Order: sequence, then structure tokens, then C-alpha cells
Amino acid sequence: MLAMRWIVKRRWTFWRMWIIGIGIWLCAGGVHAQETSEVTVGAAGIGDSYYPALGNSGYDVQHYTITLFTPVAQNYINAETHIEAIATHDLTAFNLDFYHLNILELRVNNIRAEYSRSGNELTIIPDELIPAGETFTVRIHYSGAPNVSESGEVSYAEGWWHGDGGIITAGEPSGASTWYPVNEHPLDKATYTFILTVPSPYVAVANGTLESTEVDGDNITYIWEMRQPMASYLASFQAGLFVMQTDDSGSVPIRNFFPEGRERGGETVFADQAAMIDYFSSIFGEYPFEVYGAVVANESFGFALELQTLSLFGLRFVNAGRNSPDTQGVIAHEAAHQWFGNSVSLSDWSEIWLNEGFATYASWLWFEHSAGAQVFEDIVNEYYNFISANDQLANGATLEDARRIARSFAPPGAPHPDDLFNIGVYVRGALVLHALRLEVGDDSFFEILQTYANQFRYSNATIADFIAISESISGQDLESFFDAWLYDEIMPDIPQIGLENSVD
Ligand SMILES: [Zn+2]
Repeated sequence: MLAMRWIVKRRWTFWRMWIIGIGIWLCAGGVHAQETSEVTVGAAGIGDSYYPALGNSGYDVQHYTITLFTPVAQNYINAETHIEAIATHDLTAFNLDFYHLNILELRVNNIRAEYSRSGNELTIIPDELIPAGETFTVRIHYSGAPNVSESGEVSYAEGWWHGDGGIITAGEPSGASTWYPVNEHPLDKATYTFILTVPSPYVAVANGTLESTEVDGDNITYIWEMRQPMASYLASFQAGLFVMQTDDSGSVPIRNFFPEGRERGGETVFADQAAMIDYFSSIFGEYPFEVYGAVVANESFGFALELQTLSLFGLRFVNAGRNSPDTQGVIAHEAAHQWFGNSVSLSDWSEIWLNEGFATYASWLWFEHSAGAQVFEDIVNEYYNFISANDQLANGATLEDARRIARSFAPPGAPHPDDLFNIGVYVRGALVLHALRLEVGDDSFFEILQTYANQFRYSNATIADFIAISESISGQDLESFFDAWLYDEIMPDIPQIGLENSVD
């Protein structure tokens, strides 16, 4: 509690915030220029306004079965991905997103199919036209040394990463295609089976429930089942020397995977996850999945990613210890994403606020619940004064410099496509929700959150959907409120609690 008060009371410096923001939340990725072909009926992009090459159209994937072997110690895989999909119009050709691994065989409806590759686009020409409405299968056998994808529209590497501590996969928005062929956009969510074989004593973890482990000589096969729909960037494969730790104290079973030798520290640092899930269930509605937990990679990176049912963290979070409010805030943030981002997915990457603003505000709500109203109020004040650059102005910055700093934080509804995870999306994004809460009152506000989480459960939503629910429940016209908060370069005041933007 003392450490908590220290962190919310201190003066944030620009660089400290920047490092924490980047370090905690960013992960890596690359997307590619759109490729089209005259023979392609299904389009090579699903229509995303920020990343037009991502995803594909013409079909709707129902289920992925990913069967994968890796020795872990060497970066090599031999894998087969089986896709069950429904054609949404007649298909003479269609695309998957798949990054540079060597294809050994490709079959559509169990018949060998022709294909061509260009960048991240794999164009498949089935032997026969697939009629609209028909279920079809694609089976691709491939091998090679996966790697991060780092060319394209976003400026960071993402996807498969092999290191001394094992294998990590993390890639938002587009790291999945570095290790399996996929319709890579949250608009095409699907269920998954993972059949993962590694040599003993390595452990292979993935999303959902662990159905079985089968020993075959020196190898162990782990079968994981993700029964609820999942966006591809949330698919997880992590392999390393992990120790599993479980916690059944809450309403949702928790199972964590910590690096061998760090399990005691991990257990202590992540001890509140069951309570977080129960608290969030009480305010957002029933937890959408069967299990939850954390996997901590044996690498000291400082970001976390809300992989579905099994959020990924770097070792730095364990090193920080249980009393670090930064760490507890991130643990709460990733848990809240299971509702906002994972169960309710965005429809277009430009609307990343629906993920990050909500998860950030949820982490503040966790502090309000667990540490009290004063701590919560301090968090709101500190972040408002930081992101508005009021602090910098008060500390001697010129008005011009303060304005420049304030404008480096994106309006949460309009981050640049190459700066999707700008701190403004998180911090001002969370303040949008606090301002809404003050505008409509607690009863309406929490009813809005619960209705939104429930109405779009396992599906996709838009900012317009959230505004419509907010207006319907509150009975207020909120158009100008959301316009100013989401899109204006200048952050609005929050008059109800005396917060005023003195920089603009
Ligand atoms: Zn997040």
C-alpha cells in the first residue's frame, strides 16, 4: 500500500511514462503490401482501413487445428495446419496470410491444390470451384525456421521469437502468420485445437484447456482446446522449461506457467489474478472463457500481451516483485482484456481504443476496488495532468513545448496506423471512460459496460456500437462528448472533478 501511494503520487516524467508505456504494452509486427491476382476471387485483404493487406475475404474460418513439432533448442518446426471454413461466395481462388515458411504439401478438400506466394499472401487455387455456402477444408504441411515478421506497415517486429529461454509467439496485429497460415484479422474469429509436440522436459502451452498429454519416447504431445472464438493475434504457442501452478480460489480456474526456478516469485506476483477475474466478472458480466492464467517467458522483456485465456508476460514482471503497482496494473489490464479485446473484438484496427482504453480503465477500477477511492482519484489526476502536459507546464516548460508534448499523445480514436499503441490510446483512452462515467452516473455507466460486453460476446464491435449503447442506456445525446474525447487534438476538461486542460 505504501508503494502504491508512492507511485500514484509521484511526478511522472515524460521519459519514464514513455518507457513504461512502450515497454509494457508494445509488441511487434509487420504487415505487407496488398497483393492481388486476376484469378483471385477472394480478395487479399478483409477491408481494414489501417492495414488493408490483413485478412482475406471470400470465406469464414470455423476452426484451426495446428499440429506442430519443434525441438525447442533449435529453431525449427515441422507443422500441419488444418483449416475448416465456409465459402461466403463462389471461390475459384482465395488467399491466406502466411509468412515465408516452406510449404511441403497443400490440399483443399483433400485434393492437392495449386498455390502461389507473394510476400505474406498465399493464393490458393482449388481443383474445383467452391460454391458459396459450402464448408471446405485446407490442409497445409510446412516446415522451416520461423522468425519475426518485420517488413510492412507497422514499425516493429512481431510473431515467432526463438531465444535461449525457449519459444515465444506474440504479435499484434499480425504475428500469427509467422507460424501458421491464417485469415489474419479479428473479423474472422475461429475456434482452435493445438497439438504441440516438444522433447521432454520442455512444456508446450497454448490457449484454452489442456485436454491431454501423451508421452512418446523422448517427446511429449500437449493437446490444447480453445472452444470459444478467438482472433488470430491472440493465438499462443509458448515452449520452455515451465512449471505449472494452479489456483482454484476464485470462480474461474487459474493455471499459470512460470520458468523453472522462478515459480515461487511468479506465484506471489500473480496471486491476485483470481480475485481480479472475480471482481471484473461482478462489474463486466460473466467471464467469457473456461480458464485463465499467465505464462511468463524466461526472457526479461517488459511487455505483456493478453493472449486468450493465457496472458503472456516477460520475466521483468516477476523481477519487479509483488508490491510493484506498475506490475499489478499490467496484470489487471491483461485480465480485463479477456472481456474487452478478446471476447468483444474490434472490427477495424483504427478502433484499438475499444481494447486499450477499456483495459487501462479496468486496471484503474481494480485499484479503486482493491486500494480505495483516494488511490483511484490520484491515478486519474496524475494521468490527466500528465497527458494534458499540465504537469510539464507547471514544471517550467514553455507553453509551446507543453503543447508539443500534449500533441504527441494521439487522440484515442485516431492513432496513426504506424503508432497504434500510442500512450494516448491507453491513458486518454481510459480518461474517456472516466469522463463518461461522470457524465452518465455510476449506475448507467456500469450497465453500459455490461451491456456492451454481453451484446458483443465472442463477436466484433465498433465504436459506433459502444456509443449507441451509451446513448440508449443513459438517454443522453453523447455525440459531441465522444467526438471531442475520441478525436479532438485537444483533450477536454473534466469539470465534475475540477480537471482543466491549461495547455490548450
Ligand atoms: Zn492492452
